Amino acid sequence: MSWTLTVKRRDTVPHMNGVVERFTAGVGHCPASSSDGAPPTLPDLEDEAVRLGVRVTWQELPAGYCGVYDWTRCRIVLHDGLTPVQARCTLCHELEHVRYGDRVCGGKGEARARRRTALRLVSPVAYAAAEQVYDGCAWQIACELGVTMQVIGDYRQILHDSGMVWQ
Ligand SMILES: [Zn+2]
Repeated sequence: MSWTLTVKRRDTVPHMNGVVERFTAGVGHCPASSSDGAPPTLPDLEDEAVRLGVRVTWQELPAGYCGVYDWTRCRIVLHDGLTPVQARCTLCHELEHVRYGDRVCGGKGEARARRRTALRLVSPVAYAAAEQVYDGCAWQIACELGVTMQVIGDYRQILHDSGMVWQ
């Protein structure tokens, strides 16, 4: 793919009635869509956006925002101050909103996007290994797996909900 991310610092602030992500604890793996089992990288997700028909642009967003799915213009806007890890997690999350046609960030759609993002970005094997190596320290596990703390929190919630406990 010849697609590359374009930094559009001069863009106007995007329409904020779309699906807006705020910085809380950051954002956050879908067995269903990871055909080869390897969690997608940021470039993988950029290619995925192209396949789903949405542009990915970067620009400064208002304080507290890390990404927006502007469905009115078929684009995802990422805050240009995001680290690569934050961008990967945010883009993965936004792509789930795209995939399901969510038009607001909240309720069932939001819960689904967070869950699917955690399942897509966290490899169960890598997670189990990191849990042991880092004695359960979420911050070190997040660093090792290249995801945000929120994704680790969401992944742990999924494990908890499914009755699995890592020791
Ligand atoms: Zn969302």
